[in-house]
Amino acid sequence: MKSVGVIGAGASGIITAKILKEKGFHVSVFEEKNHIGGVWKYNKDINIGSIYKSLKTNLPKESMVFLNSNQTYKSQFSYIDHQDVYKYLDDNIKSWGLLESIKFNTKVISIKPLNNYSLKLNNISSHDVNEFYVDNINNTKWKLKAIYNDNVISYVFDYIVICSGHFSKPNDGIKNINGQHNIKITHSKNYRSPDKFKGNIICVGNGASGKDISLELKQHGCNVYIAKKDIGIDEENRSLNRNIYKKNIYESYFISMPLDIINKNDKSLVITSYGNEIEVDHIILCTGYIYQYDFIKDIIKVSENQNVYPLYKDIIHTYYPSMAFIGLQKNILPFVLFEAQAEYISSLWLRNSIEDLSTRKTEIENRYKKSNYKDVHNIQTHHWNYIYDLYSFVGIPESYKSKLRLIQLVFDDALNNKDNNPYDYRNFNYNINYKKNKWSKTIDNTRSII
Ligand SMILES: Cc1cc2nc3c(=O)[nH]c(=O)nc-3n(C[C@H](O)[C@H](O)[C@H](O)COP(=O)(O)OP(=O)(O)OC[C@H]3O[C@@H](n4cnc5c(N)ncnc54)[C@H](O)[C@@H]3O)c2cc1C
Repeated sequence: MKSVGVIGAGASGIITAKILKEKGFHVSVFEEKNHIGGVWKYNKDINIGSIYKSLKTNLPKESMVFLNSNQTYKSQFSYIDHQDVYKYLDDNIKSWGLLESIKFNTKVISIKPLNNYSLKLNNISSHDVNEFYVDNINNTKWKLKAIYNDNVISYVFDYIVICSGHFSKPNDGIKNINGQHNIKITHSKNYRSPDKFKGNIICVGNGASGKDISLELKQHGCNVYIAKKDIGIDEENRSLNRNIYKKNIYESYFISMPLDIINKNDKSLVITSYGNEIEVDHIILCTGYIYQYDFIKDIIKVSENQNVYPLYKDIIHTYYPSMAFIGLQKNILPFVLFEAQAEYISSLWLRNSIEDLSTRKTEIENRYKKSNYKDVHNIQTHHWNYIYDLYSFVGIPESYKSKLRLIQLVFDDALNNKDNNPYDYRNFNYNINYKKNKWSKTIDNTRSII
C-alpha cells in the first residue's frame, strides 16, 4: 500500500485524505493545531486564526459542498455563520472515519526528497522554469520531519500533499509606513469585532473582508474610509469633504492608498497618494495574505509577485510529481475545486504515469505567459474549465456531472448578485433541487445586513 503524508486538516486536507484513503492509499494527516477545519475554527485570541466573530460566508452554502459528502448544512439560510461551516467539515470527518488518520498538535517543519538530487532554486527569476536543472524524478519518496510535544519525529512517505492553506501570513499591503506615530495599524487577520474601535478609521482594501469590516465599523459608529488603488483625485476629495454627520452606512468613502504618516501639532496624519492629510485613529489592513511554504523552501519558490512554482496545472510539482498542492489558487469555489484536484492526484498516482517533463514545462510556461507572469494563481475567468478539465482526466460519473452543473449555476449567479448588491447579497437564499435538476433564488429582507 502506498503511503501519503497530507499537510493540514483544513477543508482541502480532509477532502484529500478522504479521497486518497478511499482509493487505497495509506494516509496520515499532519495538523499543527489541536482541531480540524483550518480557517473555519474561530478563535477570540487575535493571534490565532484569521476570521472575525461576525463572519458569515460570502458564498452560498449550496455551493460550499463536497460532491463526495452526504452531510448537509443545518441552517435554513444560504449565507451562514462560520460555526456552521466548521460543523459541516466536522460532520464530514466523523462520517468519513478520518479522525484516527489525523496527527494533531504536530507541526511539519521540513519535507525533503529521499534521493540525493537537489534542486537549485537560488536566484531563479520569477518565471523562467528552465532555470531548474534537475532531471525528472518521478518516484521520489519523501522524508518528513514534524514536531510533536517538543520532539522531532521523522516519517517516510511515497507521496506528499500540501494542504496548508494560504490565509495565515498577512500581506502588509502598505510597506513604507514606519516611524513613530499614534495611529494603530492592524491586519484584518487580527480583527475580531468592532468593540474596541472608535473615531476615524481607514480600511485598506475593498475585497470581501474590507467590505464586511468597514460596514461593521460604520454600524458601530466609526467614521470609515476605504483606501484602494485606481481611484481618481475627485473621488477622494468628495469622500474627504462629505458631511460625516449625515453619513449613510451603506455608502463607501473611497480614498487613495496611504503613502506615509506624519506628525503635526501632536496629531498623526495619514498622507494619501494624492497628498491629502487625514487625521486617523486606526488603519485596518484588509490586504489579504501571501503564500508561505517555509517547510519546503528548498523545492518550492514563491516569487516576489506571488507566483508559486514550478507547479504543473498548479497542482503537481513539475520535477517531483510525487508531491502535490491542493487549493493554491485564488478566486475559486474552494471546496469544489479542492475535491476536483484531490480526485485528479489520486487518479494520476494510481495510473503511475504523467505527461513528460517537457510537456509539463510547456504547460507552465504557457499559463505564465497568458497571465503576463502576474496573478498566475487567480483563475476566476477559467475556473470552471479548469475543474471540468481535471474531471475529464479522472472520468467523472454522470451523477456528479449534473450536480456540478447546478452548483456552477448557483455559484455564478451568486457572484453576479454580490457585484450588484454588495451590501445585501446575503439576504438572498438559494435552493438546489437535485432530483428535479433545478435551482432557484429568493430574497429575504428580514435578515440583518451582515
Ligand atoms: C476571512 C475569510 C473568509 C472566507 N470566506 C469564505 C467563504 O465564504 N466561502 C468559502 O468557500 N471560502 C471562504 N474562505 C476561504 C477558505 O480559506 C477556504 O474555504 C478553505 O477553508 C481553505 O481551506 P484549506 O484547507 O486550503 O486551508 P486552511 O483552512 O487554512 O487549513 C490549512 C491547515 O493546515 C495547517 N497547517 C499549515 N501549516 C502546517 C504545518 N507546517 N504543519 C501542520 N499543519 C499545518 C493549518 O493549521 C490549517 O489547519 C475564506 C477565507 C478567509 C480567510
